[in-house]
Amino acid sequence: MLALKNLVKTYDNGHQAVKNVSVDIKQGEFIVLVGPSGCGKSSILRSIAGLESITSGEIHLNNRRIDNEKPASRDIAMVFQNYALYPHMTVYENLAYGLKNRGIDKKTIALKIEKVAATLKIADYLDRKPAKLSGGQRQRVAMGRAIVRDPQLFLFDEPLSNLDASLRAHMRLEIKKLQRELAVTSVYVTHDQVEAMTLADRIIVLNQGVIEQVGTPAEVYHQPASTFVASFIGSPAMNFHQAEIIDGVVTFEDQSIFLSEYAHLPAQTIQLGIRPEHALLEPSNTGLNFSLTVQAVEPLGPNQLVHGLVNDKIFTALTPEQHFSSKEILTLNVAKQHLHLFSKDGKRLLSANENTGTLAKAS
Ligand code: ADP
Ligand code: MG
Repeated sequence: MLALKNLVKTYDNGHQAVKNVSVDIKQGEFIVLVGPSGCGKSSILRSIAGLESITSGEIHLNNRRIDNEKPASRDIAMVFQNYALYPHMTVYENLAYGLKNRGIDKKTIALKIEKVAATLKIADYLDRKPAKLSGGQRQRVAMGRAIVRDPQLFLFDEPLSNLDASLRAHMRLEIKKLQRELAVTSVYVTHDQVEAMTLADRIIVLNQGVIEQVGTPAEVYHQPASTFVASFIGSPAMNFHQAEIIDGVVTFEDQSIFLSEYAHLPAQTIQLGIRPEHALLEPSNTGLNFSLTVQAVEPLGPNQLVHGLVNDKIFTALTPEQHFSSKEILTLNVAKQHLHLFSKDGKRLLSANENTGTLAKAS
């Protein structure tokens, strides 16, 4: 439906913000482009919208090459972080503006706006100016302006980042419901991994202008293609500790564990990845056991973060609420299926039964 082919964006100052990005997006899909600030998310989105010219590559929308078309003729609607509403116009006029410009008659415009206003629950303040609206209301109007245009594609650039936490969670759910209802293909940009996990059909993880992984939220969480993805997706971040693997036997601290599905790997030093939520307090004969010397506990309410040392290196575990004293030594257990193996340079080492499909994009 939307295809980016070898997209490159180099700015006039020589900075290459997007480096050879290729991806195919399906009809009706909700794609979230996630990555740290400055990794090139907005550059990609603005290139799709036509607000930036691309340096090389191609953009196709519904089998039509659009990268040479003017923004107005691409049939794409974009929702910005700062809403970009016209301050001197009422909500109604803001919603009507783009339609008027396309020569649509007044009656049709009124009908469209009535419908969108009902969907977004903004019917009560159509005659207000944006300054008289709350952040959440402005965000709804900005969404409404995109929806009335009936575009083939929605683009969202961090649309919730100006809202406070509770409103952000609320609007996140609203956007998801709305997208399901309208079934319009959407590309949503955020630096927030929670937004990415909750909204996306598929997530694209971007790092310095390069795609690290494309996959469903479950795939990027359970099979991160690299230490970058593993530390970006999931909170608190995955722990990484050096270990050795020889003939499928992983040696970590003074413990060894045989992982038959990794027996094919050549002997090497690896980075062993363990998510805080997978380090359990119940000892077990299976899985990897190791000891952690407690340094600090941070209560979160329902559970707590336990920070301590494993092999003189910091490790964080997420445990149920329980009192631990400083310097107390805990035995932690991680089930085999929750051990992530990465090469020294941070690439996921595949187990014999792992589906490589989701990792193919990892460079
Ligand atoms: P993101 O949206 O992921 O935060 P951007 O796409 O805005 O990242 O920017 C990617 C990189 O390109 C950043 O290093 C940024 O400083 C740079 N950049 C963005 N716009 C311009 C520009 N107009 N000229 C030069 N460099 C730019
Ligand atoms: Mg941006």
